[in-house]
Amino acid sequence: MIIINYYIYCTTFHAAQVLGIQTMPDLSARIGENLSRVRQRIAAAASRGGRHAEEIKLLAVTKYVGNAEIRVLVQAGCTDLGESRPQQLWQKARELADLPIRWHLIGHLQRNKVRRTLPLASMIHSGDSLRIIKTINESAAELGRRVPLLLEVNTSGDPAKGGFQAHEVEALLPELAMFRHVEIQGLMCMASLEGGQDTARRDFAALRKLRDRMRSHCPPEIVLDELSMGMSGDYETAVEEGATIVRIGSALFEGVVQ
Ligand SMILES: *Cc1c(COP(=O)(O)O)cnc(C)c1O
Repeated sequence: MIIINYYIYCTTFHAAQVLGIQTMPDLSARIGENLSRVRQRIAAAASRGGRHAEEIKLLAVTKYVGNAEIRVLVQAGCTDLGESRPQQLWQKARELADLPIRWHLIGHLQRNKVRRTLPLASMIHSGDSLRIIKTINESAAELGRRVPLLLEVNTSGDPAKGGFQAHEVEALLPELAMFRHVEIQGLMCMASLEGGQDTARRDFAALRKLRDRMRSHCPPEIVLDELSMGMSGDYETAVEEGATIVRIGSALFEGVVQ
């Protein structure tokens, strides 16, 4: 009987693997391994940069996966989750409302989606224009809330990318300080995808230097502690250059999604 059961277990397990279906223990093990590898690498990069691992928050980007994977991730202790599309964030927040998740919006937000996004988001990383920040401020005022927000800066200078230009954002500080219902906590950037680690390092260092310079003459309402930078391909470089939040998707789901 035991042998037969074992045989059934093995063939089912094998069939599931051939079909690309992950069984739950398999999914937990994979995600758990990926997570501990990422955490180890963050810690190693932090120590290379003369920093403590605890200074760096891991934001798990869940845009590639469904609810089953997210549940495993939360079970493993990841509760800060990021989505780049507002509609996806709404849907997942609704379906996973039983979990203690803090959702972060990391992609572009259109003005007509602000009202529905704000009650669900604990931070918006993509404050990429004065117009959208103004709308967020108005909506947050109606909710009686202050919304944590990062200013997205286009450090790579790529015209196809969103975000403030590095040279303009500094001059906007006094104006940004007038928005009483947004709490500007730092800067965010995406390194250019082409160009490798050297280019990424240059972009990350540029964001850190911009933050340091802005911090020296910031109005008291604005505290620029956070640097949200680094994704699966470049987070170790980002940590070496001062990231306080890394946004990691695919590295957490290796072997889980293609
Ligand atoms: C998708 C995405 C990430 C995560 O990307 P990976 O390379 O899969 O880690 C991080 N930040 C933003 C803004 C994204 O859209």
